[in-house]
Amino acid sequence: MLHLFRSFICFAKILKAVHLLKPYQSVFLLIMFIGKYSSAQELPVARSVLKAYSKVTRSKGGLSGKLYWQNTGNYNININFNPSTRELSGIVAIDYINNSPDTLKTLVFKLYPNLYKNDAMRNMPVAPGDLTTGVHISSMSIDGNEYDSTRCAIKGTNMHLKGSRILPGQKAHIAINYSYTLNKGSFIRTGQIDSGAFFIAYFFPRVAVYDDIDGWNEYPYIGKEEFYNDYGNFKVAITLPGKYEVWATGNLENTQEVYKPNIVQRINNAELSDSITDVITTDDLNKGNVTQSNQTNTWRFEANGVTDFAFAVSDHYMWRSSSIMVDPSTKRRTRVDAIFNPVHDAYLPVAAYARKTVELISYHFPALPFPYSHETIFDGLDAMEYPRMVNNLPFREKKEVLEFTAHEVFHALFPFYVGINETKYSFMDEGWATMTEFLFPPLIDSRHAI
Ligand SMILES: [Zn+2]
Repeated sequence: MLHLFRSFICFAKILKAVHLLKPYQSVFLLIMFIGKYSSAQELPVARSVLKAYSKVTRSKGGLSGKLYWQNTGNYNININFNPSTRELSGIVAIDYINNSPDTLKTLVFKLYPNLYKNDAMRNMPVAPGDLTTGVHISSMSIDGNEYDSTRCAIKGTNMHLKGSRILPGQKAHIAINYSYTLNKGSFIRTGQIDSGAFFIAYFFPRVAVYDDIDGWNEYPYIGKEEFYNDYGNFKVAITLPGKYEVWATGNLENTQEVYKPNIVQRINNAELSDSITDVITTDDLNKGNVTQSNQTNTWRFEANGVTDFAFAVSDHYMWRSSSIMVDPSTKRRTRVDAIFNPVHDAYLPVAAYARKTVELISYHFPALPFPYSHETIFDGLDAMEYPRMVNNLPFREKKEVLEFTAHEVFHALFPFYVGINETKYSFMDEGWATMTEFLFPPLIDSRHAI
C-alpha cells in the first residue's frame, strides 16, 4: 500500500517537472517510469529447460526438482602403459546404472583419443607425426554377451552401441578391451611431456552423459571444448616398467608394494605434517632408491564420487608434499603434492602455494572444508584441471605460478565438486577460478597485493 502511495507521489512530481524538460527527455523519463512500474517480464528460457520444469526434474528457483536424477557408473580399469612405444592397452569394465525414467535403447560412449585420428574433425592443430588410427576395440560385451563391434557406429569421439536395452532403474555391465597410442607431441591437455614424463587423461572408453535436459550428450570433442561427465566410482590398476612412478586422481591403495620403505615413510609423514616434506629428491632418483625393484609394478588407485580419472607418470620428477587439516570438526586432512622436473626451480614453492590455496578454500572463500583427500600439481604442458589433479606448465614468473596454482586448485570445487556441464557452460567454472587469481595471491604472499 505504502508502495502505491509513493508511486503516486512520484508520478505527480514527474508530471509537475515534465513541462521543464525537452521533448526527448520527457520520452526517456516516461520509458523509465513504465519500465519501473509495469509488471516485470520473465527472461526467455530454453525449451529444454521448460520441459525439465514440467517433468519436475528442475525447478525455477534453481534447485533440483523433486524428480531429479543422474545416471552413474562404477569403472574398473586395468591397463598397461609402455612409455617407450606410448601404447596404452587394457580393459575397462563398467557397471552403468540407469536412474532415468527412460529405457535406453542406444548407449553412447566417448572415445576421446579419437581426437588424434587421421580424419578427425579438430579445432586444435595436430602435427602429422601425432596422427593415429584412434582407439582400437578388440572385443566388447554387454551383460556377458559378446557385442559385434562391427555393429557399433563410431563418429569422431562418439561411439553408438545400438540394440542395447537398459530399463529405468536397471544396470548394465559393459566390458571393453581396447588400445591406442598416446600422442608424442601436439599436447592437447594430454600426452608425452618429455622422454620420461607423461600426463595421461581421457584414456578409457566411457559412457557419455544422459541427462534430463539434452538426453545423450553427443556434443563432439574437437579439441578446445571442456568436458561433461557423470559422477562415478573408479578402481584403476596401471602397470608399467618398474622405474616409473604414478600419481593419479585416486588414492594409492598399495603404497608399500610399489615404493621403497623410505618413500612410504615420507608419504606418511607428509600426510600428518603442516611443513613441507621432500618425498622424492634428486638424490633418491640418482641412486634409484624410489620404487620397488621389479620389472614392472602395478599401481592401484581408487576414487569415489568423481567425474573423471587422470594419471601422470615420470621416472625423474621430484615430489614435495605437505598436508593441512581442512575440517576441524572431524580433523580430516588434505595432502597437497607438487611433482616436477628438478630443472624447473620455479616449482619449488608450488607445494606451499597449493597448501595455502586449500587453506583459503577451507577457511576463507567459500569456507568449505576442501572435499578431497589430496590435490596433485604435476609439471606438464598445459594449465588444465582434472579431479584432484592439475597439469600446469612450469611458469617462469612467480606471479604466474601463484595465479595458476590458485586458479587450477580452485577448479576442485568448480566444476568438479558441483558437477556442471563444462562443455556448455565453461564460463561458470572459469569465471570462479579466474576470480581467485585476484583474490588469493595477496593472501598467499603479501608481496603480490594488487
Ligand atoms: Zn580454468
